[in-house]
Amino acid sequence: MARFKRILLKLSGESLQGQQGHGIDPERLGDYARQVKEISEQGVQIGIVIGGGNIFRGLQGAGKGFDRVKGDQMGMLATVINSLALSSALTAIGCKNRVLTAIRMEPIGEFYTKWRAIESMEQGEVVIMSCGTGSPYFTTDTGSSLRGIEIEADVMLKGTRVDGVYTADPEKDPTATKFDEITYDEVLARNLKVMDLSAIVMCRDNGLPIYVFNMDQVGNLRRVINGEPIGTLVKA
Ligand code: UDP
Repeated sequence: MARFKRILLKLSGESLQGQQGHGIDPERLGDYARQVKEISEQGVQIGIVIGGGNIFRGLQGAGKGFDRVKGDQMGMLATVINSLALSSALTAIGCKNRVLTAIRMEPIGEFYTKWRAIESMEQGEVVIMSCGTGSPYFTTDTGSSLRGIEIEADVMLKGTRVDGVYTADPEKDPTATKFDEITYDEVLARNLKVMDLSAIVMCRDNGLPIYVFNMDQVGNLRRVINGEPIGTLVKA
């Protein structure tokens, strides 16, 4: 029995590069698509927000003299590229899906509205919401908290390459320990790098729980949906 009726799945663009170190790794893309299809077949309604960090981040550009707004627009377009790639991988394995864009660009995707997204999910389609929030100076973390709240998701599943929230970065500090549960306020007070602070605050103020887990291990998405305690729950 699936634990959630409707989820917002946040996928990082950076993870999509897999072993390649840049661009889109077809193997990682295929793993993601198969995991999504598996839970879609369990009847879970799925909205996805995917990042663009494997292609471009506005802040990186600003460091090299790019105009920040144009850099962020490039980043948002990167999320569209990743969304199309995921859509194509889902279609290839027979998983119905739809790409929505927060910036008008038909025929690449339909213009996002909350109601279009919900209608699609209720018809059994996986909905990929691209362009983040559609505005510069935000990230796809904030984009996913916004969309998760709008589509009335039960939870935001943040798929990362670590298996939860730690007292410190486990890749740098071997003494770091993992939380099974933590409150939004403790994440903020300890300045833990779970998501952008603005994304955490939005989730807190609107009661959207966040579940952080390792999406790069195949099968973990199903495990989370089935209630296995493999990650960290961030809640009030
Ligand atoms: N971006 C933006 N507004 C948004 C979402 C994203 O301007 O609402 C831009 C921003 O430049 C960001 C880039 O798109 O750096 C890629 O998104 P993000 O860094 O969140 O990707 P991830 O780290 O998840 O791969």
